[in-house]
Amino acid sequence: MGREWESRFEHSGNVTCVVDAAAKIVYCNPAWDTFARQNGGERSTSQHVLGKSFLDHIPAVLKPHYERLFKEAAGERKMVSSGYDCNTPKLFRRYRVMMMPLAGTDLTALVHALQFEYPVTESVSGAAGAESGASVSMCAQCRRVEFESGEWRWVPDFVRLAPSGISQGLCPACEKLY
Ligand SMILES: [Zn+2]
Repeated sequence: MGREWESRFEHSGNVTCVVDAAAKIVYCNPAWDTFARQNGGERSTSQHVLGKSFLDHIPAVLKPHYERLFKEAAGERKMVSSGYDCNTPKLFRRYRVMMMPLAGTDLTALVHALQFEYPVTESVSGAAGAESGASVSMCAQCRRVEFESGEWRWVPDFVRLAPSGISQGLCPACEKLY
């Protein structure tokens, strides 16, 4: 069976992968590798993720949400989408992932489109307040950190390099998204 659909994604600037009915990645477009090199590093490039489930890369607290979405897209063969954050220490970025079944196949394309981005303005100097050795929780979605006061704040240093032992959670704002 041909892969005519490849040409649809090959020149797209949207980070795209195509997965089979078992959620295993069978294709990544060039934009995927460009993004991986700029953000996550070599470990996320296509040669390392092909053959693996796309769900392997999703934090545990968000997995049920994406499993449900994928089941809907792949099982019922309809397009679904979901917004999510992909923040870096300097940029807040909101993306939308569209799960699009490919006609005539049992494959589904996962297309990530940037909705908007803007420079980070909020900041907490260093890790002040969160380095007391107490367990720290980071939101798996927006990457804000929960302080002992119960407040969730933006700590660029933790986004750059999460402290060992940090646990993943969902802040109240992001919980509402799911
Ligand atoms: Zn959050």
